[in-house]
Amino acid sequence: MTVEQTDTLVVGAGQAGVAMSEHLGRLGVPHLVVERERIAERWRTQRWDSLVTNGPVWHDRFPGLEFAEVDPDGFASRAQVAAYFERYVAQLNAPVRTGVEVQRVQRNRGRPGFTITTSSGVIEANRVVAATGPFQCPVIPPIAPDTASLYQLHTADYRNPEQLPEGSVLVVGAGSSGVQVADELNRAGRRVYLSVGPHDRPPRAYRGRDFVWWLGVLGEWDAEVAAPGREHVTIAVSGARGGRTVDFRLLADEGITLVGRTRGFEDDVVTFESDLGDNLARGDANYLALLQAADAYVARNGLELPEEPEAHRIAKDPDCVRQPLEALDLAEAGVSTVIWATGFSVNFDWLNVDAFDEQGRPRHQRGVSSEPGIYFLGLPWLSRRGSSFIWGVWHDAKHIADHIATQRKYLDYHRAALRAGGDGGVPGEARMATCTTSKNNRMEAK
Ligand SMILES: Cc1cc2nc3c(=O)[nH]c(=O)nc-3n(C[C@H](O)[C@H](O)[C@H](O)COP(=O)(O)OP(=O)(O)OC[C@H]3O[C@@H](n4cnc5c(N)ncnc54)[C@H](O)[C@@H]3O)c2cc1C
Repeated sequence: MTVEQTDTLVVGAGQAGVAMSEHLGRLGVPHLVVERERIAERWRTQRWDSLVTNGPVWHDRFPGLEFAEVDPDGFASRAQVAAYFERYVAQLNAPVRTGVEVQRVQRNRGRPGFTITTSSGVIEANRVVAATGPFQCPVIPPIAPDTASLYQLHTADYRNPEQLPEGSVLVVGAGSSGVQVADELNRAGRRVYLSVGPHDRPPRAYRGRDFVWWLGVLGEWDAEVAAPGREHVTIAVSGARGGRTVDFRLLADEGITLVGRTRGFEDDVVTFESDLGDNLARGDANYLALLQAADAYVARNGLELPEEPEAHRIAKDPDCVRQPLEALDLAEAGVSTVIWATGFSVNFDWLNVDAFDEQGRPRHQRGVSSEPGIYFLGLPWLSRRGSSFIWGVWHDAKHIADHIATQRKYLDYHRAALRAGGDGGVPGEARMATCTTSKNNRMEAK
């Protein structure tokens, strides 16, 4: 069996893997990116049909290439995003190999590096970057009823309204996905119940600037940790229909029935928490805080941006907020479908190294794992708020590539020192796998 060797193996060719390849290439680090499906597969097949980017493309892109066919202030379709990353890989001439699944990564014993078992052979690498995505496994909470009478699916499997059986729909979760899917179904003539939990909802734009710009200049994309108690708060934004502020009261005016967090299902009845008003109020507070911070920024910097007093007005609560439903008889309400917009988890079953805490969460600092030679990229809050987004992952990849190049420099020094000492030294980097145990020990003792 031939064993292929490389310095750094990058697993996954979504935006994270592509960014990683760009930075490794720039620093001259030999590497290979393996992807089990196609480049940017999640944008191709694991999102609903009408999805567009949440941010305008002047922002949601890598520095090295613009979205040629999309207005800079516009929002790219998922197909345009996939095509963008295809083009990016071609422009870089990046070593991406598709159709290869990594099944197992194990640290070598008595010599440096890792042995990686893939669907098409064995690879040895000195380092492995896990770029397999922040949103891998759809999460459906245990309250989901075990009943055949309801069609249940996660937003990861939702494509369009026609896919659903006739009838009303309960959408559980009101982050960007839940809000957009609920809105689309309502516009398609479905009766929709939207279960709203705690959320942030920035204005789509304010005083002529998109919220991505405001978060940038106010330093919020760079926040290293979420505010205490806000770690799991979802963000409700949308680029759909040209991009609009997510306004739950407007959605209610347009026909969606808002309900509180879903508590549970019993027989045919679903019950809701009495937190709808509070959740909306906290979302409003988040919205208004951003407007105030933006106003202060404008004043501080003497910017000439048009005032927008009407943006500060919060509409009156609709009936469904003033008298929220505590329970809903699904059969009576004609609910045929429940869509779970309840987020994702990660799965690193293939990464058999000591890089995880007791809860199975990756242990790392800015993506540099506690297990030397292992790196994580693309995870939410990897280094800051922007880490799982297109532009943010590019900057995290740069940091990881720097770390890898620095490690390689230490080894170069070591080899040069050995050569100067006249013992023949250790040959090239990829051949480190052939180091003897004693040389390896000396290297670690340095
Ligand atoms: C609905 C939705 C909308 C979003 N919209 C935006 C947006 O508008 N703007 C934005 O910046 N971000 C957005 N995001 C967030 C983020 O940009 C995307 O989730 C993006 O896909 C993450 O890119 P990634 O490269 O980190 O991971 P992924 O795109 O998930 O790529 C990981 C790749 O790894 C591959 N892989 C996994 N396991 C293996 C294995 N064992 N071996 C080989 N390959 C493997 C997968 O096939 C996949 O292609 C959105 C997320 C969601 C869920």
